Amino acid sequence: MSTRSVNIIGAGQCGTLIAIMLARHGFKVDVYERFKDPRIQDPEAGRSINLALAARGLNALHQVGIDTLVEPLLVPMRGRMLHHQDGRTEFLRYGQQADEEIYSVTRLGLNQVLLGVADDLPNLSLNFEQNAIGYDAPDRTVHVRDETDGSLYQVEADPLFAADGAGSSIRRSFDGSDTFGGIETLLRHGYKELSIPAGPGGEFQLATDALHIWPRGGFMLIALPNPGGDFTLTLFLPNVGDNSFESLSDEASVVTFFETYFPDVAALIPNLCDDMLNHPLGTLGTVRCRHWHDRGNVLLLGDAAHAIVPFHGQGMNLAFEDCVLLDRLVTEHGNDWANVFARFEAEQLANANAIADMALDNYIEMRDTVRDPKFALRKALAFELEKRLPEQFIPRYSMVMFHADIPYLVAQQRGEVQKALLEEFTEDANSIDEIDISAAIDALQKRLPRIDTVRNDLAVRRS
Ligand SMILES: Cc1cc2nc3c(=O)[nH]c(=O)nc-3n(C[C@H](O)[C@H](O)[C@H](O)COP(=O)(O)OP(=O)(O)OC[C@H]3O[C@@H](n4cnc5c(N)ncnc54)[C@H](O)[C@@H]3O)c2cc1C
Repeated sequence: MSTRSVNIIGAGQCGTLIAIMLARHGFKVDVYERFKDPRIQDPEAGRSINLALAARGLNALHQVGIDTLVEPLLVPMRGRMLHHQDGRTEFLRYGQQADEEIYSVTRLGLNQVLLGVADDLPNLSLNFEQNAIGYDAPDRTVHVRDETDGSLYQVEADPLFAADGAGSSIRRSFDGSDTFGGIETLLRHGYKELSIPAGPGGEFQLATDALHIWPRGGFMLIALPNPGGDFTLTLFLPNVGDNSFESLSDEASVVTFFETYFPDVAALIPNLCDDMLNHPLGTLGTVRCRHWHDRGNVLLLGDAAHAIVPFHGQGMNLAFEDCVLLDRLVTEHGNDWANVFARFEAEQLANANAIADMALDNYIEMRDTVRDPKFALRKALAFELEKRLPEQFIPRYSMVMFHADIPYLVAQQRGEVQKALLEEFTEDANSIDEIDISAAIDALQKRLPRIDTVRNDLAVRRS
């Protein structure tokens, strides 16, 4: 019989949120985090400063009642602002309902709110500077090093939630066994973060209500607003070859590259060369596992189970969705961990694989396809179909970002059918007026069932 206490490795977004949920179920929760408390010192300054929060993440925060604490940190983004190479800008709305927007949030601010809420729970303890260095399957224990004095001790997996991120030491302890069958696939592109400060009066120097993209085919630059008036930029580029991080090795090459591809924004980045040459180069990759649990002892979740590339802005949203699902399963099955973990994997693994694929697709869309004039036309047709048949057609982007009640796998599968239909009906048209909308509606009704037959029950309506 399992005990009423649980151990969690990692106090990132996922580890902290699940800790709060399990503590509220009455479990005694211990969280072990390798870094210092980020409310005192940001251990990862320079790494993915802000993130896009969408419906699935908001739904999770709403379910634990902390969306109101997070709201002051959010900057709404209603669409993509494309910055074309010739200097033209083009705004493409993400959705057509007033509330169909996503939110830029600082990673640090969000983590600080979550940790503050966790700290207030008497049956939850946060243990910082405690590094899980490996898992011992036969003994069902984690070896932990106290980074403050170097001492070693063991923590029981009865059970253990491994929320220790993409490079999870718990997952990797099982490499070579069939337990998780984890595969890590690195993208050949990396990223560097830069920033545009607020203007002299604290004003934003680009439109604030958009996620800005400079799509350049094989690579791209993006910018997300922060509440203080500044923007965090992320340059995604191949690691080697022409126009790669390797080729941008000195000031001259950085200046030439930015003057060629991003002349409008280069002038707004005060420390361009220093930042490009000195900021860390981030790696991007996908983690896929065949299984996420070791009987009732260990469960991987969040990035430890399913890291994905960031191009759909969904890694954290998916990690939060994991927590919502687990919370529901614990409500239904209590501490029957073997059962809870098996159900969790059965419900969520295919969804994680689906969003992993869609995130990879979206890199090509963001850096390249958005430049095709047919992209805007297909989007216009998609909005028209959604307006006329909202229970039959929701654009794939909207299903992923705005509909927490539509599983990722369903969004992917319906998205394939919809994509073929949009391509077919825009092929010979140059504007929406040239498209036979009634024929498109007929085709849609033949090819797809109504959406209400496939919704899940993870989402609550936001008040
Ligand atoms: C450039 C970039 C942009 C992104 N943009 C978005 C976005 O816009 N929207 C979105 O939803 N997602 C985005 N993501 C993904 C998102 O950051 C992750 O999916 C999310 O942070 C996962 O949360 P997590 O808690 O599972 O893992 P993490 O946030 O990585 O947390 C893991 C925690 O475990 C700790 N830890 C690790 N190893 C150990 C150990 N051995 N012992 C103890 N503690 C340990 C770490 O210190 C960390 O605190 C982006 C990612 C990147 C790289």
